[in-house]
Amino acid sequence: MPKTKKLDKRVVNFSYWEQKQFFAPADVLIIGGGIVGLTSAIFVKRQHPKSRVVIVERGVLPSGASTKNAGFACFGSVGEILDDLSKMPESTVLDTLRLRWEGLALLRETVGDVNMDYRAYGGYEVFTTAKAFERCEAGLSDLNRLLQTVIGKKKTYQSRMNSIESFGFKGVKGLIQNRYEGQLDTGKMMATLISTAQHLGVLILNGIAVDAVTDVGSKVILNTSVGELEGAKVVVATNGFAKQLLQLKVVEPARAQVLITDPIPKLQLKGSFHLDEGYYYFRNIDGRVLLGGGRNSDFVGETTFEMTITPTIQTALEKLLYKTILPYAQPKVAMRWAGIMGVGTEKKPIVEWVSGRVIAAVRMGGMGVAIGSKVGQQVALLLK
Ligand SMILES: Cc1cc2nc3c(=O)[nH]c(=O)nc-3n(C[C@H](O)[C@H](O)[C@H](O)COP(=O)(O)OP(=O)(O)OC[C@H]3O[C@@H](n4cnc5c(N)ncnc54)[C@H](O)[C@@H]3O)c2cc1C
Repeated sequence: MPKTKKLDKRVVNFSYWEQKQFFAPADVLIIGGGIVGLTSAIFVKRQHPKSRVVIVERGVLPSGASTKNAGFACFGSVGEILDDLSKMPESTVLDTLRLRWEGLALLRETVGDVNMDYRAYGGYEVFTTAKAFERCEAGLSDLNRLLQTVIGKKKTYQSRMNSIESFGFKGVKGLIQNRYEGQLDTGKMMATLISTAQHLGVLILNGIAVDAVTDVGSKVILNTSVGELEGAKVVVATNGFAKQLLQLKVVEPARAQVLITDPIPKLQLKGSFHLDEGYYYFRNIDGRVLLGGGRNSDFVGETTFEMTITPTIQTALEKLLYKTILPYAQPKVAMRWAGIMGVGTEKKPIVEWVSGRVIAAVRMGGMGVAIGSKVGQQVALLLK
């Protein structure tokens, strides 16, 4: 009978109740349960409380970057911004800075500082060569003036040579502070976003992988690991995995590896730190040091969907940890992990219709904590 056949095709081996409650056609189906998928769902639901909004996430937990990151609430270090200004028009650089600044404000409003342990400890750029430090220091006043037009704050960046010793670093030739940078607990942030979405009535289906997205004109059909799902509109929020589902040549996966130490008695550093134009980053958390990066020592190897750690990068991280960051402590490494980011030659997100009923909200780069919720808000505006 055609009717039974259709049901069988839609969702494999689920009861009538399960199909009706969990797999009924959605008004908005969101693929990916990271920060972008969750905030898109939250803002769509706030806009249309009665709409049926469903997130389909292939991991048991979100499994890309949103629960793997370093939790820096940052909008740019001097070295990074000067580098961007040398490659891109000033207006593009300022647009991205504004997106990051406004995105952080929106994230703090949506999650609440207490719910994600937001700490305004400030950020620091660490220089291991005098030449790089002098280049950045020379650009400080111009950059501060430029930034004031975007964030309305004076003297965001300041040279902080006298803090090098108090942080306990070795071989560091310069330090520049960003007074308005913060840090947060990534796990708490994501747990709050999940509960906020669920509280608004968003259904989150974990453990379902989407294999194909087909816009048939009147609706969108997802081929998934449990059968077909239908949505009137679909948002692809799979970031670094975007090209597995969409014909998007401009988003590449970029793996980022991390380690965290055992607790360190009398840990001297506090804040979020950037080194080597942001390719390395470290911070204090729960009396430990979390350190990540090093992708620039193996760009080819790190352009991958594989969420594994490698000796090349982990060795580079350890060298930096023991020689420069914690020469006085030498703690053991407690854990290591990797996440996948979405990057491209343009340093800005893609938030656009890719067909009549499908939106792509991808390519967050290394800035998704900062810009993710703003992108979610833009998705909701597109769906208005
Ligand atoms: C180690 C590391 C450190 C970082 N540090 C920072 C930082 O300090 N500050 C900052 O601003 N940014 C940081 N980032 C970047 C930031 O984490 C990301 O930009 C952001 O989390 C991206 O969010 P997203 O929702 O777009 O993507 P993701 O969080 O990657 O979410 C995409 C989701 O889609 C799911 N998915 C993919 N394909 C499918 C499919 N076919 N079917 C179903 N589900 C699918 C994935 O499982 C994943 O959960 C870091 C990233 C990493 C990896």
